[in-house]
This record gives sequence, C-alpha cells and structure tokens, in this order.
Amino acid sequence: MSNEQALRRDVALANRIIERFGLSNAFGHVSARIPGTETFYISTRRSPGLADENGLLVIDTDGKVLFGEGTPNSEFWIHARIYAARPDVGAVVHAHPPACISLTQIGQPHRVVHNQGSGFADLPEYERIGLIRSRELGDQVAKSLGGGVAVMMRGHGISTAFADVRSATVAACYLEESAQLNLGMLAAAGGDGTRIRAFTSEEARLANEQTGPAARASGRAWEYYATVAAQRPLGG
Ligand SMILES: [Zn+2]
Repeated sequence: MSNEQALRRDVALANRIIERFGLSNAFGHVSARIPGTETFYISTRRSPGLADENGLLVIDTDGKVLFGEGTPNSEFWIHARIYAARPDVGAVVHAHPPACISLTQIGQPHRVVHNQGSGFADLPEYERIGLIRSRELGDQVAKSLGGGVAVMMRGHGISTAFADVRSATVAACYLEESAQLNLGMLAAAGGDGTRIRAFTSEEARLANEQTGPAARASGRAWEYYATVAAQRPLGG
C-alpha cells in the first residue's frame, strides 16, 4: 500500500473512531496534512461515521478544494487555519464530545485526574459559541490553541492537534475519557473542585511521558480503538 493510501485509510478510520466512540454523531471531522505540503485530507460533509478513504477531499490552508468530489464540512476552517499556523501539526481532530462540552458549560477547567489525561494540563478554552465557518474564526481557534495539543471549545467541543493522525485521534478519545472522570469526580465531591486530587504539573509531565497520546503506548491504543470501531455498528 502506498503512503498516500495508508494515510487516507487512517484518516477515514479516525473519522469512524470518533463516531463509534461517541465523540461525535452526525458532525465532527478528522484531517491529516499531506506531508510536506500546505494541503490536507478531510472527509466530506456527512457524519464522520460514514467516512470513506476513497471519498476524501484535498483542501489547502486557504480553504480551496483541490481534489475530490462533494462538499467540504462547513467547519473545515478549523483544520485549514491550524495547519497554516502550526507547521509541526500533521493532523487535527474536531469533535463534539459531551463530557468535554459539559465541563466548559459548568465553568470548570479540565483537571488532570488520571494517567491518560496527563497530556492535557492547563488546556486553553475558545469561549465564543457557534460554528467555525470562516477563515477569521478558524484563525481565532488556532490562536486559542497556540502551541498546545488541544483546545476546549465552550458549548461546542474540542479540537486536538498532533504530529500524526493516530496520536490526534487517541488524544481526542483520552480527553473525553478524562472529561467523563472529571464530571464524575466533581459530582462525587459535591461539586467542590478543590476536593479533587488533580495531578501536579510534575506528575502530569511524568505520566504523559508514559501514557500520553504521543507516547509509544498510543500504538496499542490506536489498535484498540481501530479494532473496536471496525466491529461496532454505526451509531455505537
Ligand atoms: Zn464543531
């Protein structure tokens, strides 16, 4: 299989993973930069659960569709402008995971409370609600993301940005798992966030080296998510 086809396969699979694992339903999208270029593969405007490796579009960072048939997702600007701002980023996941959204809407930060959440200390928040359907708004999301690996988007979802599509996808799954734990702990603690024994910065750094989405362990995580996604029906 060519590198191009392997990347297309991973992008389509990543889209199906975020749908099968409940991070998105009819909406959400995963993209990957075509290495060494200002262009990227992204699924067409339909549920990520229906993504097809042979139906991906190629778009550039100015939002121009260069290849493929079909309409792009209206929020492709998130991807385009993150790639424009961050030459180190090779893949972007944008999803609407419910626990992450819930955290933003109760005004609680994401806390690092377990190993797999350790890569998400001090996450930035993009506060403006609504869809990202313009170059300007895409630039604002990229600015909120800064040099980080993820941004919480209030009342909307998340975007993750990593060097490769597998890490970006595993990261999105880890972040939602972490947000679910955050909500459960907050509830168990009567809503008092000060009772949560969040990891210190040093603990988070150490744990992230061992278990973070970019760590070697992500190969095993990708294998798991990909295998389960292949077996679960559309809609989970
Ligand atoms: Zn969205």
